[in-house]
Amino acid sequence: MADVIPALSDLWTERAEAADHADRLRPLRALFHLPEGMTYLDGNSLGCLTYGARARLRDVVDREWGTGLIASWNQAGWVDLPARVGARIARLVGAEEGALVACDSTSVNLFKVLASALALRPGRRVIVSERSNFPTDLYMAEGLASLLNQGHELRLADHADEIPALVTDETAVLMLTQANYRTGALHDMAALSRLAHERGALALWDLAHSAGALPVDLAGDGADFAIGCGYKYLNGGPGAPAFLYVAPRHQAAARQPLSGWFGHAAPFAFEAGYQPASGVTRFLTGTPSVLALSALDAALDAFDGVDMAALREKSVALTRFFIAAVEALCAGHGLQLVTPREPARRGSQVSFTHPAAYALCQALIDEGVVGDFRAPDILRFGFAPLYNSFADALNAAITIAELLASKRYEDERFQRRNTVT
Ligand SMILES: *Cc1c(COP(=O)(O)O)cnc(C)c1O
Repeated sequence: MADVIPALSDLWTERAEAADHADRLRPLRALFHLPEGMTYLDGNSLGCLTYGARARLRDVVDREWGTGLIASWNQAGWVDLPARVGARIARLVGAEEGALVACDSTSVNLFKVLASALALRPGRRVIVSERSNFPTDLYMAEGLASLLNQGHELRLADHADEIPALVTDETAVLMLTQANYRTGALHDMAALSRLAHERGALALWDLAHSAGALPVDLAGDGADFAIGCGYKYLNGGPGAPAFLYVAPRHQAAARQPLSGWFGHAAPFAFEAGYQPASGVTRFLTGTPSVLALSALDAALDAFDGVDMAALREKSVALTRFFIAAVEALCAGHGLQLVTPREPARRGSQVSFTHPAAYALCQALIDEGVVGDFRAPDILRFGFAPLYNSFADALNAAITIAELLASKRYEDERFQRRNTVT
Protein backbone atom coordinates (compact mmCIF):
# COMPACT_ATOMS: atom_id res chain seq x y z
CA MET A 1 0.00 0.00 0.00
CA ALA A 2 2.72 2.45 0.99
CA ASP A 3 4.25 2.03 -2.49
CA VAL A 4 0.96 2.20 -4.26
CA ILE A 5 -0.37 5.41 -2.73
CA PRO A 6 2.28 7.84 -4.08
CA ALA A 7 1.89 6.63 -7.68
CA LEU A 8 -1.88 6.61 -7.48
CA SER A 9 -2.05 9.90 -5.67
CA ASP A 10 0.02 11.62 -8.39
CA LEU A 11 -2.57 10.57 -10.91
CA TRP A 12 -5.41 11.75 -8.69
CA THR A 13 -3.64 15.03 -7.96
CA GLU A 14 -3.55 15.78 -11.67
CA ARG A 15 -7.24 15.02 -11.92
CA ALA A 16 -8.08 17.24 -8.95
CA GLU A 17 -6.05 20.11 -10.36
CA ALA A 18 -7.76 19.84 -13.73
CA ALA A 19 -11.21 19.76 -12.12
CA ASP A 20 -10.42 22.76 -9.89
CA HIS A 21 -9.11 24.63 -12.90
CA ALA A 22 -12.35 24.02 -14.80
CA ASP A 23 -14.57 24.93 -11.82
CA ARG A 24 -16.52 28.10 -12.56
CA LEU A 25 -17.60 28.53 -8.93
CA ARG A 26 -14.01 28.47 -7.70
CA PRO A 27 -13.74 32.26 -7.10
CA LEU A 28 -16.48 31.97 -4.44
CA ARG A 29 -14.11 30.10 -2.13
CA ALA A 30 -12.36 33.42 -1.44
CA LEU A 31 -15.52 34.72 0.25
CA PHE A 32 -15.02 32.23 3.09
CA HIS A 33 -12.72 32.17 6.07
CA LEU A 34 -11.27 28.67 5.75
CA PRO A 35 -8.91 27.85 8.63
CA GLU A 36 -5.31 27.36 7.55
CA GLY A 37 -4.30 23.72 7.32
CA MET A 38 -7.84 22.40 7.60
CA THR A 39 -9.84 20.48 5.01
CA TYR A 40 -13.39 21.17 6.06
CA LEU A 41 -15.99 18.68 4.84
CA ASP A 42 -18.60 19.37 7.48
CA GLY A 43 -20.53 22.23 5.92
CA ASN A 44 -23.59 20.00 6.05
CA SER A 45 -23.42 20.28 9.83
CA LEU A 46 -22.08 23.82 10.32
CA GLY A 47 -21.27 25.93 7.28
CA CYS A 48 -18.14 28.09 7.15
CA LEU A 49 -17.96 31.74 8.11
CA THR A 50 -18.02 34.26 5.29
CA TYR A 51 -15.92 37.41 5.62
CA GLY A 52 -19.12 39.28 4.76
CA ALA A 53 -21.04 37.79 7.69
CA ARG A 54 -18.19 38.65 10.05
CA ALA A 55 -18.11 42.27 8.85
CA ARG A 56 -21.88 42.54 9.00
CA LEU A 57 -22.03 41.23 12.57
CA ARG A 58 -19.44 43.79 13.64
CA ASP A 59 -21.44 46.55 12.00
CA VAL A 60 -24.74 45.39 13.48
CA VAL A 61 -23.20 45.23 16.93
CA ASP A 62 -21.27 48.51 16.81
CA ARG A 63 -23.54 50.71 14.74
CA GLU A 64 -27.08 49.32 14.57
CA TRP A 65 -27.22 48.06 18.14
CA GLY A 66 -24.47 50.06 19.84
CA THR A 67 -25.48 53.46 18.49
CA GLY A 68 -28.86 53.10 16.83
CA LEU A 69 -30.43 51.15 19.68
CA ILE A 70 -34.22 51.02 19.47
CA ALA A 71 -34.40 53.26 16.38
CA SER A 72 -32.74 50.45 14.44
CA TRP A 73 -35.95 48.43 14.44
CA ASN A 74 -37.12 50.83 11.75
CA GLN A 75 -33.96 52.53 10.51
CA ALA A 76 -31.90 49.40 10.05
CA GLY A 77 -34.93 47.39 8.96
CA TRP A 78 -34.61 44.87 11.80
CA VAL A 79 -38.34 44.32 11.84
CA ASP A 80 -38.37 43.13 8.21
CA LEU A 81 -35.48 40.68 8.54
CA PRO A 82 -37.61 37.49 8.64
CA ALA A 83 -39.31 38.43 5.36
CA ARG A 84 -36.20 39.87 3.69
CA VAL A 85 -33.98 36.94 4.53
CA GLY A 86 -36.85 34.61 3.68
CA ALA A 87 -37.15 36.12 0.20
CA ARG A 88 -33.45 35.44 -0.45
CA ILE A 89 -33.78 31.81 0.64
CA ALA A 90 -36.95 31.52 -1.48
CA ARG A 91 -34.91 31.87 -4.65
CA LEU A 92 -32.66 28.98 -3.63
CA VAL A 93 -35.54 26.61 -2.94
CA GLY A 94 -38.03 27.60 -5.63
CA ALA A 95 -40.61 29.20 -3.33
CA GLU A 96 -43.18 31.70 -4.57
CA GLU A 97 -42.92 35.32 -3.50
CA GLY A 98 -44.20 35.84 0.04
CA ALA A 99 -44.29 32.13 0.86
CA LEU A 100 -41.16 31.80 2.99
CA VAL A 101 -39.88 33.42 6.19
CA ALA A 102 -36.67 33.00 8.19
CA CYS A 103 -37.30 32.52 11.90
CA ASP A 104 -36.89 30.27 14.92
CA SER A 105 -35.24 26.85 14.70
CA THR A 106 -35.98 24.01 12.31
CA SER A 107 -37.55 22.02 15.16
CA VAL A 108 -39.87 24.86 16.19
CA ASN A 109 -40.80 25.57 12.58
CA LEU A 110 -41.63 21.92 12.07
CA PHE A 111 -43.99 22.10 15.03
CA LYS A 112 -45.76 25.12 13.56
CA VAL A 113 -46.20 23.85 10.02
CA LEU A 114 -47.05 20.30 11.05
CA ALA A 115 -49.75 21.56 13.43
CA SER A 116 -51.07 23.71 10.65
CA ALA A 117 -51.07 20.83 8.15
CA LEU A 118 -52.86 18.49 10.57
CA ALA A 119 -55.56 21.09 11.13
CA LEU A 120 -56.10 21.28 7.36
CA ARG A 121 -56.82 17.53 7.30
CA PRO A 122 -59.32 17.03 10.14
CA GLY A 123 -60.54 13.47 10.37
CA ARG A 124 -57.17 12.04 9.33
CA ARG A 125 -54.88 10.98 12.12
CA VAL A 126 -51.73 9.57 10.55
CA ILE A 127 -48.38 11.26 9.92
CA VAL A 128 -46.18 9.17 7.64
CA SER A 129 -42.41 9.51 7.84
CA GLU A 130 -39.25 7.42 7.86
CA ARG A 131 -37.48 5.80 10.78
CA SER A 132 -34.24 7.16 9.34
CA ASN A 133 -35.51 10.74 9.37
CA PHE A 134 -33.53 13.17 11.50
CA PRO A 135 -34.73 12.41 15.04
CA THR A 136 -35.83 15.92 16.00
CA ASP A 137 -38.46 15.80 13.23
CA LEU A 138 -39.90 12.61 14.69
CA TYR A 139 -39.63 13.89 18.26
CA MET A 140 -41.47 17.10 17.42
CA ALA A 141 -44.23 15.16 15.67
CA GLU A 142 -44.55 12.90 18.70
CA GLY A 143 -44.76 15.87 21.05
CA LEU A 144 -47.34 17.59 18.90
CA ALA A 145 -49.46 14.44 18.64
CA SER A 146 -49.45 14.05 22.38
CA LEU A 147 -50.29 17.72 22.95
CA LEU A 148 -53.21 17.55 20.49
CA ASN A 149 -54.47 14.45 22.25
CA GLN A 150 -56.70 13.54 19.28
CA GLY A 151 -55.18 10.17 18.52
CA HIS A 152 -52.64 11.29 15.91
CA GLU A 153 -50.00 8.66 15.25
CA LEU A 154 -46.69 8.47 13.47
CA ARG A 155 -46.20 5.62 10.98
CA LEU A 156 -42.59 5.12 9.98
CA ALA A 157 -41.23 3.45 6.88
CA ASP A 158 -38.16 1.32 7.53
CA HIS A 159 -37.09 1.81 3.94
CA ALA A 160 -37.92 4.47 1.36
CA ASP A 161 -39.59 1.85 -0.86
CA GLU A 162 -42.23 1.31 1.81
CA ILE A 163 -43.43 4.92 1.84
CA PRO A 164 -46.05 4.66 -0.94
CA ALA A 165 -47.83 1.77 0.78
CA LEU A 166 -47.99 3.69 4.07
CA VAL A 167 -49.74 6.69 2.54
CA THR A 168 -53.46 5.89 2.68
CA ASP A 169 -56.80 7.67 3.10
CA GLU A 170 -55.97 7.89 6.81
CA THR A 171 -52.83 9.93 6.16
CA ALA A 172 -52.99 13.60 7.02
CA VAL A 173 -49.36 14.47 6.28
CA LEU A 174 -46.41 12.87 4.53
CA MET A 175 -43.43 14.38 6.37
CA LEU A 176 -40.02 13.71 4.86
CA THR A 177 -36.51 15.12 4.76
CA GLN A 178 -35.50 15.45 1.13
CA ALA A 179 -31.85 14.46 1.62
CA ASN A 180 -31.19 11.87 4.31
CA TYR A 181 -28.77 13.19 6.95
CA ARG A 182 -26.89 9.92 7.28
CA THR A 183 -26.72 8.50 3.76
CA GLY A 184 -27.35 11.58 1.62
CA ALA A 185 -30.05 9.67 -0.30
CA LEU A 186 -32.44 12.03 -2.04
CA HIS A 187 -36.20 11.60 -2.27
CA ASP A 188 -38.14 12.49 -5.41
CA MET A 189 -40.02 15.47 -4.04
CA ALA A 190 -42.33 15.85 -7.03
CA ALA A 191 -43.35 12.18 -7.16
CA LEU A 192 -43.91 11.84 -3.42
CA SER A 193 -45.82 15.12 -3.14
CA ARG A 194 -48.04 13.94 -6.00
CA LEU A 195 -48.58 10.61 -4.28
CA ALA A 196 -49.58 12.37 -1.05
CA HIS A 197 -52.03 14.58 -2.94
CA GLU A 198 -53.57 11.67 -4.84
CA ARG A 199 -54.38 10.11 -1.49
CA GLY A 200 -55.73 13.34 -0.03
CA ALA A 201 -52.74 14.04 2.20
CA LEU A 202 -50.40 17.02 2.45
CA ALA A 203 -46.65 16.95 1.80
CA LEU A 204 -44.26 18.53 4.31
CA TRP A 205 -40.58 18.66 3.34
CA ASP A 206 -37.53 19.25 5.50
CA LEU A 207 -34.82 20.88 3.40
CA ALA A 208 -32.08 20.87 6.07
CA HIS A 209 -29.67 19.06 3.74
CA SER A 210 -30.94 20.51 0.47
CA ALA A 211 -31.22 24.29 0.87
CA GLY A 212 -28.05 25.75 -0.59
CA ALA A 213 -26.76 22.32 -1.56
CA LEU A 214 -28.87 21.68 -4.66
CA PRO A 215 -31.65 23.34 -6.63
CA VAL A 216 -35.05 22.78 -4.99
CA ASP A 217 -38.37 23.55 -6.67
CA LEU A 218 -40.93 23.76 -3.86
CA ALA A 219 -43.56 25.42 -6.05
CA GLY A 220 -42.99 23.22 -9.08
CA ASP A 221 -42.87 20.01 -7.07
CA GLY A 222 -46.12 20.78 -5.27
CA ALA A 223 -44.84 20.93 -1.68
CA ASP A 224 -47.50 22.09 0.77
CA PHE A 225 -45.18 23.05 3.62
CA ALA A 226 -41.43 23.06 4.08
CA ILE A 227 -38.83 23.89 6.69
CA GLY A 228 -35.06 24.11 6.55
CA CYS A 229 -31.90 24.98 8.36
CA GLY A 230 -29.87 28.21 8.28
CA TYR A 231 -26.55 26.97 9.64
CA LYS A 232 -25.74 24.10 7.28
CA TYR A 233 -25.29 24.86 3.57
CA LEU A 234 -26.63 28.40 4.03
CA ASN A 235 -23.68 29.24 6.31
CA GLY A 236 -25.69 31.41 8.71
CA GLY A 237 -23.59 30.50 11.77
CA PRO A 238 -24.11 28.25 14.80
CA GLY A 239 -27.79 28.13 15.72
CA ALA A 240 -28.72 30.41 12.79
CA PRO A 241 -32.43 31.01 12.25
CA ALA A 242 -34.19 28.39 10.18
CA PHE A 243 -36.93 28.97 7.61
CA LEU A 244 -40.44 27.82 6.86
CA TYR A 245 -42.53 27.71 3.71
CA VAL A 246 -46.30 27.64 3.30
CA ALA A 247 -47.69 27.16 -0.23
CA PRO A 248 -49.75 30.22 -1.22
CA ARG A 249 -52.87 28.03 -1.69
CA HIS A 250 -52.86 27.22 2.05
CA GLN A 251 -51.94 30.59 3.48
CA ALA A 252 -55.43 31.97 4.02
CA ALA A 253 -56.73 28.86 5.79
CA ALA A 254 -53.57 27.89 7.66
CA ARG A 255 -53.42 28.52 11.41
CA GLN A 256 -50.41 27.88 13.61
CA PRO A 257 -50.42 27.30 17.35
CA LEU A 258 -47.47 29.50 18.43
CA SER A 259 -49.58 32.59 17.86
CA GLY A 260 -47.25 35.26 19.15
CA TRP A 261 -47.43 38.96 18.45
CA PHE A 262 -45.08 38.98 15.46
CA GLY A 263 -47.61 36.82 13.61
CA HIS A 264 -50.45 39.17 14.55
CA ALA A 265 -52.13 41.32 11.90
CA ALA A 266 -51.23 44.48 13.86
CA PRO A 267 -48.59 43.70 16.49
CA PHE A 268 -48.16 47.31 17.52
CA ALA A 269 -51.87 47.87 18.05
CA PHE A 270 -51.46 45.81 21.25
CA GLU A 271 -54.96 44.38 21.09
CA ALA A 272 -55.94 41.72 23.62
CA GLY A 273 -57.21 39.25 21.01
CA TYR A 274 -55.19 37.42 18.35
CA GLN A 275 -55.82 38.16 14.67
CA PRO A 276 -53.42 36.39 12.32
CA ALA A 277 -51.48 38.50 9.84
CA SER A 278 -52.12 37.73 6.20
CA GLY A 279 -49.87 35.37 4.30
CA VAL A 280 -46.88 33.52 5.69
CA THR A 281 -46.25 36.31 8.24
CA ARG A 282 -48.77 34.62 10.54
CA PHE A 283 -46.19 31.88 11.02
CA LEU A 284 -43.89 34.24 12.89
CA THR A 285 -43.98 34.04 16.66
CA GLY A 286 -41.88 36.45 18.73
CA THR A 287 -39.22 39.12 18.31
CA PRO A 288 -36.76 38.15 15.57
CA SER A 289 -33.22 37.24 16.54
CA VAL A 290 -31.57 40.25 14.92
CA LEU A 291 -27.89 39.37 15.30
CA ALA A 292 -28.44 35.87 13.99
CA LEU A 293 -30.69 36.96 11.11
CA SER A 294 -28.15 39.61 10.13
CA ALA A 295 -25.37 37.03 9.97
CA LEU A 296 -27.56 34.73 7.87
CA ASP A 297 -28.55 37.62 5.61
CA ALA A 298 -24.91 38.49 4.96
CA ALA A 299 -23.94 34.83 4.50
CA LEU A 300 -26.55 34.56 1.75
CA ASP A 301 -24.60 37.15 -0.28
CA ALA A 302 -22.35 34.25 -1.28
CA PHE A 303 -25.27 32.83 -3.28
CA ASP A 304 -25.95 36.08 -5.15
CA GLY A 305 -25.86 35.45 -8.87
CA VAL A 306 -25.07 31.76 -8.39
CA ASP A 307 -26.86 29.57 -10.89
CA MET A 308 -28.24 26.69 -8.84
CA ALA A 309 -27.88 24.32 -11.80
CA ALA A 310 -24.15 25.13 -11.94
CA LEU A 311 -23.95 24.61 -8.18
CA ARG A 312 -25.55 21.19 -8.53
CA GLU A 313 -23.22 20.29 -11.37
CA LYS A 314 -20.22 21.07 -9.17
CA SER A 315 -21.70 19.21 -6.21
CA VAL A 316 -22.25 16.08 -8.31
CA ALA A 317 -18.73 16.31 -9.74
CA LEU A 318 -17.22 16.72 -6.26
CA THR A 319 -19.08 13.79 -4.73
CA ARG A 320 -18.39 11.60 -7.76
CA PHE A 321 -14.69 12.46 -7.62
CA PHE A 322 -14.52 11.79 -3.88
CA ILE A 323 -16.25 8.41 -4.15
CA ALA A 324 -13.93 7.35 -6.97
CA ALA A 325 -10.79 8.57 -5.17
CA VAL A 326 -11.69 6.86 -1.88
CA GLU A 327 -12.56 3.62 -3.62
CA ALA A 328 -9.32 3.69 -5.61
CA LEU A 329 -7.03 4.65 -2.73
CA CYS A 330 -8.67 2.78 0.15
CA ALA A 331 -9.64 -0.50 -1.52
CA GLY A 332 -9.60 -3.51 0.79
CA HIS A 333 -9.86 -1.58 4.07
CA GLY A 334 -13.52 -2.18 4.86
CA LEU A 335 -15.07 1.12 3.83
CA GLN A 336 -18.56 0.63 2.41
CA LEU A 337 -20.31 3.36 0.42
CA VAL A 338 -23.83 3.93 1.77
CA THR A 339 -24.61 6.97 -0.36
CA PRO A 340 -26.42 6.24 -3.62
CA ARG A 341 -23.94 5.84 -6.45
CA GLU A 342 -26.35 7.33 -8.97
CA PRO A 343 -25.80 11.13 -8.77
CA ALA A 344 -29.49 11.99 -9.24
CA ARG A 345 -30.31 10.02 -6.10
CA ARG A 346 -27.92 11.76 -3.72
CA GLY A 347 -27.52 15.18 -2.12
CA SER A 348 -24.19 16.90 -1.55
CA GLN A 349 -22.63 14.44 0.89
CA VAL A 350 -20.88 11.11 0.82
CA SER A 351 -21.04 8.55 3.62
CA PHE A 352 -19.16 5.35 4.21
CA THR A 353 -19.57 2.80 6.92
CA HIS A 354 -16.54 1.36 8.68
CA PRO A 355 -16.35 -0.76 11.86
CA ALA A 356 -13.99 1.82 13.42
CA ALA A 357 -15.82 4.87 12.04
CA TYR A 358 -15.69 6.86 15.27
CA ALA A 359 -11.94 6.45 15.83
CA LEU A 360 -11.25 7.02 12.15
CA CYS A 361 -13.22 10.25 12.26
CA GLN A 362 -11.26 11.44 15.31
CA ALA A 363 -7.95 10.52 13.67
CA LEU A 364 -8.97 12.38 10.51
CA ILE A 365 -9.81 15.50 12.54
CA ASP A 366 -6.37 15.19 14.15
CA GLU A 367 -4.90 15.31 10.64
CA GLY A 368 -6.96 18.41 9.81
CA VAL A 369 -9.61 16.63 7.76
CA VAL A 370 -12.96 17.47 9.28
CA GLY A 371 -15.90 15.25 8.46
CA ASP A 372 -18.19 13.77 11.05
CA PHE A 373 -19.36 10.56 12.61
CA ARG A 374 -22.98 9.49 12.79
CA ALA A 375 -23.91 6.56 15.00
CA PRO A 376 -23.51 3.68 14.75
CA ASP A 377 -20.78 3.37 12.11
CA ILE A 378 -21.04 6.15 9.53
CA LEU A 379 -18.29 8.49 8.38
CA ARG A 380 -19.93 11.46 6.71
CA PHE A 381 -18.39 14.06 4.40
CA GLY A 382 -20.34 17.10 3.27
CA PHE A 383 -19.39 18.97 0.11
CA ALA A 384 -20.35 22.63 0.14
CA PRO A 385 -20.18 23.59 -3.53
CA LEU A 386 -19.52 27.27 -2.78
CA TYR A 387 -16.21 26.65 -1.07
CA ASN A 388 -15.07 23.04 -1.29
CA SER A 389 -12.55 22.14 -3.96
CA PHE A 390 -11.52 18.95 -5.69
CA ALA A 391 -8.20 19.33 -3.86
CA ASP A 392 -10.17 19.16 -0.58
CA ALA A 393 -11.85 15.96 -1.73
CA LEU A 394 -8.54 14.41 -2.73
CA ASN A 395 -6.74 15.47 0.42
CA ALA A 396 -9.46 13.80 2.48
CA ALA A 397 -9.28 10.61 0.39
CA ILE A 398 -5.48 10.42 0.71
CA THR A 399 -5.61 11.05 4.46
CA ILE A 400 -8.23 8.32 4.92
CA ALA A 401 -6.06 5.95 2.87
CA GLU A 402 -2.98 6.71 4.95
CA LEU A 403 -4.80 6.25 8.24
CA LEU A 404 -6.30 2.97 7.12
CA ALA A 405 -2.95 1.67 5.89
CA SER A 406 -1.04 2.73 9.01
CA LYS A 407 -3.90 1.84 11.40
CA ARG A 408 -3.02 4.97 13.33
CA TYR A 409 -6.71 5.43 14.13
CA GLU A 410 -6.38 2.49 16.55
CA ASP A 411 -4.49 4.75 18.95
CA GLU A 412 -6.25 4.91 22.32
CA ARG A 413 -6.76 8.71 22.22
CA PHE A 414 -9.04 8.41 19.17
CA GLN A 415 -11.49 6.12 20.97
CA ARG A 416 -12.80 8.58 23.60
CA ARG A 417 -16.29 9.97 22.86
CA ASN A 418 -17.16 13.67 23.06
CA THR A 419 -20.68 14.95 23.78
CA VAL A 420 -21.17 16.48 20.35
CA THR A 421 -20.24 14.16 17.52
C1 LIG B 1 -29.97 19.62 11.18
C2 LIG B 1 -31.39 19.18 11.10
C3 LIG B 1 -32.35 19.69 11.95
C4 LIG B 1 -31.91 20.62 13.05
O1 LIG B 1 -32.93 21.13 13.79
P1 LIG B 1 -32.62 22.26 14.86
O2 LIG B 1 -33.94 22.67 15.33
O3 LIG B 1 -31.85 23.34 14.15
O4 LIG B 1 -31.76 21.68 15.92
C5 LIG B 1 -33.66 19.30 11.77
N1 LIG B 1 -34.00 18.42 10.81
C6 LIG B 1 -33.07 17.89 9.98
C7 LIG B 1 -33.47 16.92 8.93
C8 LIG B 1 -31.74 18.24 10.12
O5 LIG B 1 -30.82 17.69 9.33
